[in-house]
Amino acid sequence: MKVEMKLKGNMARSVNPYGCKQEVLNQINYVKAEGDYEGPKKVLVLGASSSYGLASRITAAFGSHADTIGVSFERGPKDESMLGTAGWYNNIFFREFAEQEGLIAKNFIGDAFSLEMKEEVIKYIKESFGGKVDMLVYSLAAPKRTDYKTGITYSSALKPIGQEVSGENINLEKEELFTQVVEPATEEEIEGTVKVMGGEDWEWWIELLKEADCLAEGFKTVLYSYIGPKVTHAFYHDGSLGVAKEQAEESSKRINENIRELNGQSLICVSKAVTTKASVVIPILPKYLICLYKVMKEQGIHETPIMHKDRIFRTMLYGNEANYDEKGRLRPDSWELSDDVQRKVNDLMAQLTPQNFKSDLTEYQLFKKEFFNLNGFEVEGNTINEVDFETLKAMKP
Ligand code: NAD
Repeated sequence: MKVEMKLKGNMARSVNPYGCKQEVLNQINYVKAEGDYEGPKKVLVLGASSSYGLASRITAAFGSHADTIGVSFERGPKDESMLGTAGWYNNIFFREFAEQEGLIAKNFIGDAFSLEMKEEVIKYIKESFGGKVDMLVYSLAAPKRTDYKTGITYSSALKPIGQEVSGENINLEKEELFTQVVEPATEEEIEGTVKVMGGEDWEWWIELLKEADCLAEGFKTVLYSYIGPKVTHAFYHDGSLGVAKEQAEESSKRINENIRELNGQSLICVSKAVTTKASVVIPILPKYLICLYKVMKEQGIHETPIMHKDRIFRTMLYGNEANYDEKGRLRPDSWELSDDVQRKVNDLMAQLTPQNFKSDLTEYQLFKKEFFNLNGFEVEGNTINEVDFETLKAMKP
């Protein structure tokens, strides 16, 4: 059966599992080409199956020879029209490649917010992972979370606060610019977003791991945040997600208190904007990205998630080139936010029209390719576009 990219707006409706395999391998090869570094050895990644979480797992495993546990929420193949999610296959092939190098690569598929998942992971760490982790990466991007202490389910909403905001977005299916109007978040939506995308669940993971004596001396943990430039502030930094990320900064402070006796460190890492399944549905962001990529590419500093996370791990989290801001947050997004880059991006955005946005004026084609790559399409080095359903069904994470 042949697989091809199917889009519904900015959502992918198909997957090429072998393209995903090649994409994981390309990322591994990128890290290997950068060489080894002295980093973590026992890593737990929450949200390990795609983009920033997957990239973190790959750099830890293939740059620092770390055993890894990955938790993610993904679906396997159901029938020939539903072959599962890209993350499902990323997990499978990451594990295969890591095991070929003699590394442990355990995948847990299910709800990271639940108590059951926390208990299962802790049991595994104690029984089969050497008893402790020295790093926890918190890279979840989720639409909802059930608080297991109250049983209440919360939904996150990417919305502005106090004002309606309109801006242009790109429809990848129709390859058109369109105007998106986003209503302000209600109080309930803000609260929901904080519950889902803030730091509470991160704190609960650390508390339970510490209680179970699963945190190693010198343990580090990191949560990825985004601030971005002014043009995106209305519905990101100053919107409901920004409130959630601010709350995660408070969580990070409490985690630091909690792990002080282990000489541990909790960090918020403000990362750059990249093409992911979450970022393409945020208003304005795609339009901003095609201009940002153009400018950063011209300056030789364009980064994909693996380039960004690999740099963060080897030069900042485990290197001596970390740059912190006044709030103690790690700021690898400084390349994106430099005055020079932002001035040029703004100039470019002002020139965009529905007619020219796909031209060489921007990096629209790169953005589209990166989006296709997320689902295993147009991946450099992959030649397999035919799949056998039974073979896919037999693969286990
Ligand atoms: P993504 O959608 O590519 O990945 C999200 C991960 O979370 C996946 O592995 C998914 O399976 C997992 N997940 C979702 N719900 C889950 C659940 N209930 N239980 C277990 N796993 C679950 O997202 P991403 O873009 O890599 O974002 C990761 C983090 O990085 C987010 O906190 C995001 O805010 C932050 N960030 C993203 C960008 C960007 O440009 N994409 C920039 C800066 C920071």
